[in-house]
Amino acid sequence: MARLMGQMMQMPLMISSLLRHAARHAGDVEIVSKRVEGDIHRYTYRDAELRARKLAQALARLGCEASDRVGTLAWNGYRHFEIYYGASGSGLVLHTINPRLFPEQIAWIVNDAEDRVLCFDLSFLPLVEKLAPQLRSVQHFVLMAGRSHMPAQSTLANLHSYEDLLEAEDGVYHWPEFDENTASSICYTSGTTGNPKGAVYSHRSTLLHSYGLSMPDAMGVGGADVILPVVPMFHVNAWGTPYAAPMIGAKLVFPGPHLDGKSLYELMEAEKVSFSAGVPTVWLGLINFAKAQNLRFSTLKRTVIGGSACPPAMMRTLEDEFGVEVIHAWGMTEMSPLGTLARLKAKHRELPVEAQRRILEKQGKAIFGVDMALVGDEGQALPWDGQSSGNLVVRGPWVIRSYYRRDESPLIGLDGQQWFPTGDVAAIDADAFMQITDRSKDVIKSGGEWISSIELENIAMAHPAVLEAAAIACAHPKWDERPLLVVVRKPGAELTREQMLGFFEGRIAKWQVPDDVAFVDEIPHTATGKIQKLKLREMFKGHKLPGS
Ligand code: ADP
Repeated sequence: MARLMGQMMQMPLMISSLLRHAARHAGDVEIVSKRVEGDIHRYTYRDAELRARKLAQALARLGCEASDRVGTLAWNGYRHFEIYYGASGSGLVLHTINPRLFPEQIAWIVNDAEDRVLCFDLSFLPLVEKLAPQLRSVQHFVLMAGRSHMPAQSTLANLHSYEDLLEAEDGVYHWPEFDENTASSICYTSGTTGNPKGAVYSHRSTLLHSYGLSMPDAMGVGGADVILPVVPMFHVNAWGTPYAAPMIGAKLVFPGPHLDGKSLYELMEAEKVSFSAGVPTVWLGLINFAKAQNLRFSTLKRTVIGGSACPPAMMRTLEDEFGVEVIHAWGMTEMSPLGTLARLKAKHRELPVEAQRRILEKQGKAIFGVDMALVGDEGQALPWDGQSSGNLVVRGPWVIRSYYRRDESPLIGLDGQQWFPTGDVAAIDADAFMQITDRSKDVIKSGGEWISSIELENIAMAHPAVLEAAAIACAHPKWDERPLLVVVRKPGAELTREQMLGFFEGRIAKWQVPDDVAFVDEIPHTATGKIQKLKLREMFKGHKLPGS
């Protein structure tokens, strides 16, 4: 039987429409950037849209054709923002590259993505010059600066000044409309094992994700907000903020490479930032600076913290001492990235503060658009009882179904549907709040029981003398694995092994208390600011636990 079809306009969801909308409806709203050069640049959405149009013209003049990849090695800044729109908006594919990766990895990624143009900030000129002989597909190098910053000499053939390219164009350009399922951008996962894999987003997935994250129970941002994404634009598109901000007409503030506590604090205050987002490690720096100087935030109201588990102690400090609400969020590159955020339900309002906090410490509820399930070892669906812990799988219009140029499907079947396995172990309670136990490869398996490294780290981080802590599995002859806690003390603080272990008493079951503590000066971090567990496990491979 023929179905009656809806009679609404067919308007493809296009990334360019976000910036066009902002230029028309929030044309005078500012985008403020702290530049690599150290000075402040400010202009408006109206200016940004015109320059993005000029960039689209310039990229076409360089010979770019539909779906050609445009790579970026850049900090958060207005030119990077323009490339987001100039490239994707004109039908090219934006490929943001994490400059903190090893140079060989960067070259591998550029070659895998077949970037035709590579745009980069001044800070990365030496890196790009060094890598250029290995970059097989790149035909044009674009230094994101004006002519005065161009090097007198460079080994790079076809090196252009970004500003020169724009200056040569008139901006008379109409954003094209095409299939909304067309690729808009590529992000590679850091690939802790094996080569990185590319997640290819579409215009449609990006816009839907943008709507999703702007909802009140998600990031809950609006036109009255001033948004400073600390999370880099090369880390899963700064979690979607460069798309959501123009969608809602919010002022954007970009910190450039200046991510230390002092620079961030001063920029937040000067630009009246109300909302921010970043991984826990950047907040460590910001909190330490503000505490040491006895400073408070006068406009910052809320911040999303995710990318790795936010220690409850950090949430408390931000809320109690600084009056900043923390929204704990979980997601991954393969999910554009947002999956869940912890926000209270109406029925939680009457609960005592402590009980509310325990709810908000979880990774939270799925945004509409993301469906979750837990899978047990036999491939069966597990109940949402807050106790059963299993492999977390997801599905939705902003979740990948395959990786760039990989034939094998990553998906698994469950209850007649296809799901993406996240590699995380989690439990979901009856109120649909998800809590991550661990990445499956980081779980500590002691005598057939699992110990959550995140739980151990959260406890350790609550000790006043601890700056950072990581729990890893150490081989044990009897129990297979036992937890070793690696700790960085706060500068000048004293803490012994016995004091640290004693702190776990009463906070966790006895058999879960780490067997040993190793004090180090620094814990290694990945290119996205997460604790590098693989490296830590290698460092402590031969560590002999007491009594083993
Ligand atoms: P990578 O850094 O490995 O490239 P992603 O940045 O996509 O990958 O990281 C995704 C992973 O980060 C998740 O699968 C999860 O293990 C971890 N993660 C993200 N947010 C949280 C959180 N709030 N709590 C615990 N783990 C998190």
